[in-house]
Amino acid sequence: MTTAVKDARRLYEFPKPDASGVCLTAQAWARVEPPATRAERTSAKQRIRELLRERNAVLVAHYYVDGDIQDLAEETGGCVADSLEMARFGRAHRASTLVVAGVRFMGETAKILNPEKTVLMPDLDATCSLDLGCPVDEFTTFCDANPDRTVVVYANTSASVKARADWMVTSSIALPIVEHLKARGEKILWAPDRHLGRYIQEETGADMLLWDGACIVHDEFRAAELGLLKAQHPGAKVLVHPESPRAVVVQADVVGSTSGLIQAVLDNPGGTFIVATDGGILHHMRKLAAPGTTLIEAPTAGSGATCKSCAHCPWMAMNSLRGVARVLEEGNNEIRVDDDIAARARISIERMLEFAAAHRIGGRPKAGGLSANPEAHGGLGPA
Ligand code: SF4
Repeated sequence: MTTAVKDARRLYEFPKPDASGVCLTAQAWARVEPPATRAERTSAKQRIRELLRERNAVLVAHYYVDGDIQDLAEETGGCVADSLEMARFGRAHRASTLVVAGVRFMGETAKILNPEKTVLMPDLDATCSLDLGCPVDEFTTFCDANPDRTVVVYANTSASVKARADWMVTSSIALPIVEHLKARGEKILWAPDRHLGRYIQEETGADMLLWDGACIVHDEFRAAELGLLKAQHPGAKVLVHPESPRAVVVQADVVGSTSGLIQAVLDNPGGTFIVATDGGILHHMRKLAAPGTTLIEAPTAGSGATCKSCAHCPWMAMNSLRGVARVLEEGNNEIRVDDDIAARARISIERMLEFAAAHRIGGRPKAGGLSANPEAHGGLGPA
């Protein structure tokens, strides 16, 4: 293990497993079901509508999953959102079963906040390179070696890692929380995304010790190719998720969470945008965008990259309409979290939710600005 010092930011390097490498992403792509026919999709959607009613269930989907699943979630009274809003929505909703279309840490967070509810996921092996790259034993050693630091972890971590943290944050709330901690004079231990950690450190000037993890999708965006694309579209605004490398982030007109990037499209009707985040977001952007809006995917590394370099997450792609119908039919793929781990993880998650409520941060994108109105969460009251 080594620790590199750069300004007030320190990067912690750990002995990485091959978790975020070629092998696991190839395995994940191999698990993605072949595309369904139009007739199969229509039939699966109808069956899901019926099953959601019969099982008193609600569908909660992330912006990166299949467009049909996103549409179905909205149509049936569920939600499509970022991970902060997914957590808030699931907690506020009266359904006894939550079907979470996303990746495993999202299902675990839903279960931790809703221990009395059944939480199902289309595929329990749908994970995340950030989660895989932050094993709890090594993370605990890292924390124990730095007892003077407040431990802040990104949502993209296991329940066990959240249980070791003081705060959990999502990308839509990380900046104000770190600013808040800095104002209290606290030094921060951040995990696992190094790019997001660096971005927050540079924005806030906080003293941050960073875990060396990365998202295999955002890590693939390339600065030189982005520069060439910008030259071809001189009027385009560049929208970048802060899990991307610094050389990409510095070219952005807007740096933000998924909700923040969608909001930027709504705030500039008819504009042209180069979008550097998972391509799944384009489905929701196109639905909300004003006529004449042009959306262009930011360039990735090409065929030599460690993943398919298609700006799409293989684990998000493991969510299928067939999978959603299957778990509702069979009631399998239930998320379970050890009671002791859940109790400790809940503290770090609740801290973030209380901070969001107190500072009126969050909400889903809409014309006129991000909505913090509880009505935007299905009319079911505040989270
Ligand atoms: S897009 Fe990246 S951060 Fe999101 S689930 Fe996939 S690997 Fe994790």
